[in-house]
Amino acid sequence: MPCQNPGVQSPDVVIVGAGLAGCSTAWHLAGERSVLLLEQGDQAGAEASSQNAGMVRRLGEDPHERVLAVRTHRWLQAPGEDWADLQPSRRTGAVLALVEEPHDLHDAASHLQAQGVVVQACDRPAQIAPALAGARVAFCWHLPDERVADAHSLIAGFLRGARRRGAELRCGLRVTGLRRQGDRVVGVDTDAGPIDAGAVVLAAGAWTSDLARGVGLHRPLVPLRRSLLQTDTHPLSAPDHPWTWIDDAGLYVRPEAGGFLVSPCDEAVDPPSPGPGSRGSVTPWARALAEHKLRSLLPALADATPRGGWTGLRTFAPDRRPILGPDPDAPGLHWAAGLGGFGVTCSYAVGEAVAGWLRGEPVPWLDRDAVSPGRAWMQRWLMRADGDRNTPRMLSTPPPPR
Ligand SMILES: Cc1cc2nc3c(=O)[nH]c(=O)nc-3n(C[C@H](O)[C@H](O)[C@H](O)COP(=O)(O)OP(=O)(O)OC[C@H]3O[C@@H](n4cnc5c(N)ncnc54)[C@H](O)[C@@H]3O)c2cc1C
Repeated sequence: MPCQNPGVQSPDVVIVGAGLAGCSTAWHLAGERSVLLLEQGDQAGAEASSQNAGMVRRLGEDPHERVLAVRTHRWLQAPGEDWADLQPSRRTGAVLALVEEPHDLHDAASHLQAQGVVVQACDRPAQIAPALAGARVAFCWHLPDERVADAHSLIAGFLRGARRRGAELRCGLRVTGLRRQGDRVVGVDTDAGPIDAGAVVLAAGAWTSDLARGVGLHRPLVPLRRSLLQTDTHPLSAPDHPWTWIDDAGLYVRPEAGGFLVSPCDEAVDPPSPGPGSRGSVTPWARALAEHKLRSLLPALADATPRGGWTGLRTFAPDRRPILGPDPDAPGLHWAAGLGGFGVTCSYAVGEAVAGWLRGEPVPWLDRDAVSPGRAWMQRWLMRADGDRNTPRMLSTPPPPR
């Protein structure tokens, strides 16, 4: 996403990071506030926002994530003039299967059904998702209206609308720290000098925690690396094949380029170095894990060979909830971070909530305390190294700054 550099000097709002979170927030704020969006890379949307599988998944474990997802999904059906010549998403449907824990996701399904989302138990999933033919499945949910989104198109529209209403995107500029006067955050330091601002929004993905730590704030976000692999062409791949996720064992497939995009749902802690560039290559271990899971969980795809692929960073708070809104310990600082594996799914509503709170408006549809940067952090939490919920590893939350 190319940059233009005209010249907002002391904006009302500086947003750090031009991924989905930053661009959506800019789109929601522009016009009512002067907005300067700063990106360390040479283009917007080149980190986690370019590394995802694009599945819009409303049937998630966390209720607050589901609220953001439902709102974004509703918007995706008619996103408006800034996306008029783009196709930011399309309906494919989805199947979420459980092989060991048949009762998982029932509470989430009830929550969605109460809001009118079509979520159905299905006993012949292979009729809907041929990739599941022959799979031993204990329970299955079918969501016929689930979508896949194209993050590149989402960002193009967010930026188009934000710029049309006066926002500026400046690329190749790294924020090196937050500027404080007393408790208040009053701008940012960059590698090209300081910038004053009425408010700062941290939307720096995997890099966010370090910026907060620099001003003594304990906001423990942990980047977890995940692999995505592309198979050769496969006869079962079709554009309308629903994306298919074996949720408890940890394997998903999504039709792509005549084959399938596959993830074994691996997780490995991997903080990024300063500066852009978080994309990695798939390790032999992750490739073997993907092949093993395809053979053992999806026999219909046992002959699908994963060839190319990449890895990217999903960044989580210990409770795997996003960190959104005003920071109670640093007036002037706002958060749009911790979007883990749901940043596409929740993209529109994340910007909507963060912008609403920044303007001092109520956001009645989201529980502010539950996503607040000032909430209590668990000291230990579970990571799924091999993607399987039954073989988790305990992670210690990073300690507070001294
Ligand atoms: C393998 C994989 C699969 C995924 N699949 C899905 C999926 O199917 N569905 C889904 O909903 N989500 C998925 N996700 C998650 C989704 O991609 C992320 O949640 C989302 O992209 C996060 O967006 P962001 O804007 O917070 O972060 P980013 O996209 O990383 O953006 C942060 C930006 O901030 C910039 N930045 C950082 N520090 C600074 C600084 N100091 N100064 C200036 N700029 C800075 C970075 O360069 C970057 O551009 C997946 C992620 C991965 C890695």
